Amino acid sequence: MARTFDLAPDEKIDWLRTLPFWLVHLLPFAAIYTGVGHWSAWVVMVVLYYARVFFITGGYHRYFSHRSYQMGRVMQFLMALGGTSAFQRGVLWWAAHHRHHHKYSDQPEDVHSPKRGFMWSHMQWFLAKTHFDVQWDLIPDFRDNPELKWLNKHEFVPGTLLAVIVFFVGYFISGTWIGAAGYCIIGFWLSTILLWHGTFTVNSLAHVFGRRRFATRDTSRNNLLIALLTGGEGWHNNHHHYQASCRQGFYWYEIDMTYYILAAFSKVGLVRNLRQPPERILNKHLIKQGHADLGMFHAQWERAAKALSTVQFKTAEQKKALEELMSSTRTRIDEIVRTSHEKAEELIARSGDADPA
Ligand SMILES: [Zn+2]
Ligand SMILES: [Zn+2]
Repeated sequence: MARTFDLAPDEKIDWLRTLPFWLVHLLPFAAIYTGVGHWSAWVVMVVLYYARVFFITGGYHRYFSHRSYQMGRVMQFLMALGGTSAFQRGVLWWAAHHRHHHKYSDQPEDVHSPKRGFMWSHMQWFLAKTHFDVQWDLIPDFRDNPELKWLNKHEFVPGTLLAVIVFFVGYFISGTWIGAAGYCIIGFWLSTILLWHGTFTVNSLAHVFGRRRFATRDTSRNNLLIALLTGGEGWHNNHHHYQASCRQGFYWYEIDMTYYILAAFSKVGLVRNLRQPPERILNKHLIKQGHADLGMFHAQWERAAKALSTVQFKTAEQKKALEELMSSTRTRIDEIVRTSHEKAEELIARSGDADPA
């Protein structure tokens, strides 16, 4: 049984406002009656899935949230337009919330902290009343751009237009309105639903399943399957280690489709200055070199503390004594880790000074 987490009143799901989100999940069942119109609806589904994965990963995430490369104003608008057609809310809303996630990853302030359970980090967080507004202070670089602001406000327009286009393509191919409806359900809506959950897994599963290369302060993982489903976002531990990089698969065997496409775009001048992870970053905070994995340590510690908090004590004093012991131990460990980090950094800096120039 999943643990239920305490939710503040404004963290409860806003059922009325999120009703369309739930209803869309029921749509594919309607295809049982309508049929799919034509087999090519399945091709449209896959194409629209991966095309919009690119706009979300390459646009919403790597450009608007992290500025990991540059492009001109028209191209920037087109990337935002493509991303908005995925019905993942406005580009400024998305980017600002994502910046917040990196600022506070896995801490109590994290908007979708995996420590609050799978459902919270997967989708409950954005269905809650408290997370509907754009955090304007986190997006000062784009908030005054008129076309992006327009797009952010009219977030339903691009997706609706795309759905209508798919519907008429379905009508043209199948020759019936029922066929058109089935074609649109599979080609557009099923693709949109799968893309939603593909994106959400980066926040939920990519902080739970996979391997950790770098000792980041969060619980992010590297996961090939998620990378294949999300156009390269599964290299999430790499990404939390160095978010400025446009490339998230740091090595040739870490497949990163979005990066390959952006690299091709840069060859023909559509985008420029794709940022790479520098050599010193690739060799920094490596767990296999014995670097203290603070992110996992904190996560385990909190789990242990939570488990202990359910223990029945005979007296209140006993409970208090244990709590005090835990908190002082934790403070001491944090202190030791911090000072050893400082010492290590100091030694590295000194050895750098000693290098013959
Ligand atoms: Zn990110
Ligand atoms: Zn993350």
